[in-house]
Amino acid sequence: MVKSEQLYEGKAKKIYSVSSSDDLVWVEFKNSLTAFNGEKKAEMINKGRFNCHITSILFKWLEKKGINSHFHERVSDIEMVCQKVKIIPLEVVVRNILAGSTAKKFRIEEGSPLEQPLVEFYYKDDSLGDPFISDEQAIMLKAVNNVEQLSVLKQKALEVNIILKKIFEDIGIDLIDFKLEFGLDSKGEILLADEITPDTCRLWDKKTGERMDKDRFRRDMGQVMEFYEDVFQRLKTFEEKNK
Ligand code: UDP
Repeated sequence: MVKSEQLYEGKAKKIYSVSSSDDLVWVEFKNSLTAFNGEKKAEMINKGRFNCHITSILFKWLEKKGINSHFHERVSDIEMVCQKVKIIPLEVVVRNILAGSTAKKFRIEEGSPLEQPLVEFYYKDDSLGDPFISDEQAIMLKAVNNVEQLSVLKQKALEVNIILKKIFEDIGIDLIDFKLEFGLDSKGEILLADEITPDTCRLWDKKTGERMDKDRFRRDMGQVMEFYEDVFQRLKTFEEKNK
């Protein structure tokens, strides 16, 4: 497999074609970290490496537990080869504990537990600031083809939540919330896609309550990469123990 021309550059990753296959893409994790729709930016040494390893471990584990994703293999410290998919323009957020935008919106204290996981959709459009979107609006905008696809997304997101909550529990971390993206493969199958990293999850240390995710950057808490590395090391130990 050979990395070919660049197809796309996003805030955290670059996507390349793969010369031998139309069905695959080559994903490279960048060291840039952005927040607030790209308004706040920084370069962080090793961020690409930590996120590439973290996402690869999690996609592999999810596959083992029956969740198909676009992930094929990690090919270097910062690169993975994935199935080419057409990304569904919805961010699927799952919350176990209230934090971030929804806590703020309803003036509920961050850290309030939810009786059951909450699934929310946001419309992926940077120029609109990724607004919250209702099921009916998602259909109106043709983000998905029908209501069934929305319920598949919700169901898959909840299954992913059960598996991720358990793995993070095992390594002493509370999974507060996270964002998933899904794509359609050439057969029209819905596959989990994008990444699962401390950029896209809220992760709180069970013992100390310390935040181990992008909130450290958003809120200028410092030691951002130290905590990303800690998440990576704990997941690596988990993977080695559960081979
Ligand atoms: N999230 C993300 N990308 C986005 C928006 C949110 O990965 O564009 C993640 C975020 O890191 C958190 C979860 O989704 O783990 C819920 O984010 P929230 O809606 O609370 O928004 P925020 O507080 O990040 O504005």
